[in-house]
Amino acid sequence: MAQRRYNQAVQKYSIFSLVRNALTGHRNWRAAWRSPEPRPAYDVVIIGGGGHGLATAYYLASVHGVANIAVLEKGWLGGGNTGRNTTIIRSNYLWDESAALYEHALKLWEGLSQELNYNVMFSQRGVLNLAHSESDLRELSRRVNANRLNGVDSEFLDTAQVAAYCPLIDCSPDRRYPVLGASLQRRGGVARHDAVAWGYARAADARGVDIVQNCTVTGILRDGGRVTGVETSRGVIKAEKVAISAAGHSSVIAAMAGIRLPIESHPLQALVSEPVKPVLDTVIMSNAVHAYISQSDKGEMVIGGGIDPYVSYSQRGGYDQIEEAVRAVVELIPSFSRLRMMRQWGGIVDICPDASPIIAKLPLEGLYFNGGWGTGGFKATPGAGHLFAHTIARDQPHALNAPFTLERFNTGALIDEHGAAAVAH
Ligand SMILES: Cc1cc2nc3c(=O)[nH]c(=O)nc-3n(C[C@H](O)[C@H](O)[C@H](O)COP(=O)(O)OP(=O)(O)OC[C@H]3O[C@@H](n4cnc5c(N)ncnc54)[C@H](O)[C@@H]3O)c2cc1C
Repeated sequence: MAQRRYNQAVQKYSIFSLVRNALTGHRNWRAAWRSPEPRPAYDVVIIGGGGHGLATAYYLASVHGVANIAVLEKGWLGGGNTGRNTTIIRSNYLWDESAALYEHALKLWEGLSQELNYNVMFSQRGVLNLAHSESDLRELSRRVNANRLNGVDSEFLDTAQVAAYCPLIDCSPDRRYPVLGASLQRRGGVARHDAVAWGYARAADARGVDIVQNCTVTGILRDGGRVTGVETSRGVIKAEKVAISAAGHSSVIAAMAGIRLPIESHPLQALVSEPVKPVLDTVIMSNAVHAYISQSDKGEMVIGGGIDPYVSYSQRGGYDQIEEAVRAVVELIPSFSRLRMMRQWGGIVDICPDASPIIAKLPLEGLYFNGGWGTGGFKATPGAGHLFAHTIARDQPHALNAPFTLERFNTGALIDEHGAAAVAH
């Protein structure tokens, strides 16, 4: 019944609708989502229209049957980190809690285009993590074994196998950082970032979610120990429950409710080269030289590196980080020294001390938080939305996000992915 209502509300994308619309000059496509005025009150208000906020709204409506939801976005959908990231998706994390969380997300990615009837261009082209030292090798083999015990696909490649798998990589022994081996997750890959936000927005809108862009949340309303709504640039909106999903501004928004989070916000940059013909059909990551690279469907090399070391809310970063990332890429793939760089940009990543996220209730009745994903939250988008929706609807965490509390920073039950892998993209 719910599925039938959904099919009626949304124009299904298919070869037939494409042909039908081609015959009428493509003038009759319906807008993918509405632009409603915000209503005075909702059951759930979600702050942040990135992939996570939109996925949360979608699963609240589709899995939990919550009818009265608004997503408030201060800019445009996906204009935060969702539209700025390098889109690496993998689930080969070391610790049991993380592996379970990211594997849950990866399984949802595998059916996402079909579920949303929207091509998110998820491409399982494999993710290669290179080892350049004895300690890298030990860390990688420990991680490969831990992944296998957790049912996550992961394999170890020696230098010759790396050279055969990706001939572009310079595997000669006289490099400053010789390639000694690698871990490979074949089910990992990349997806089209904007499409993820748009696909969730369209599916959530079809289920009645109000998506309100250009609406900045400026305050969180409280009555005693419980939340009652939000103040916004478009007026006061009452809500039974308020869910924060505003990566980059997590601490700013939590502070509106008088809550201090153990989160630092740093700029993280990425850049793309001029487009070239397909040459790289996998994702390469290296912690030692500190770069990661993949080729987009347009042909650009998508390159990222480390965070800028200072805290900042500016969506830009220092030139030294770009220089470092490019130097690292050329070290790995010398032929790319001839590529010209085309664009560079920055996002703001909010990082917890253990490099793991928080998906939990906050210590104010009716207030929920999803954030602290740092440099690696894009890959979690479907899983984070799914589990956050569960936490909001049931007022208690799902078993998979139960360890990802705020209290762990008091109890010491950290999920230390920082120690496990220096780069957590
Ligand atoms: C350069 C870069 C590369 C990255 N690479 C990867 C990668 O390869 N793989 C990976 O898994 N992750 C990666 N990440 C991290 C990933 O992008 C994020 O963890 C993820 O996109 C967070 O999604 P989100 O929906 O929570 O946040 P966002 O997309 O940032 O959404 C939050 C939204 O909240 C809105 N907002 C903020 N304040 C307010 C307010 N007061 N009122 C209303 N709305 C507000 C913002 O405008 C924003 O749109 C990268 C990040 C960057 C910056």
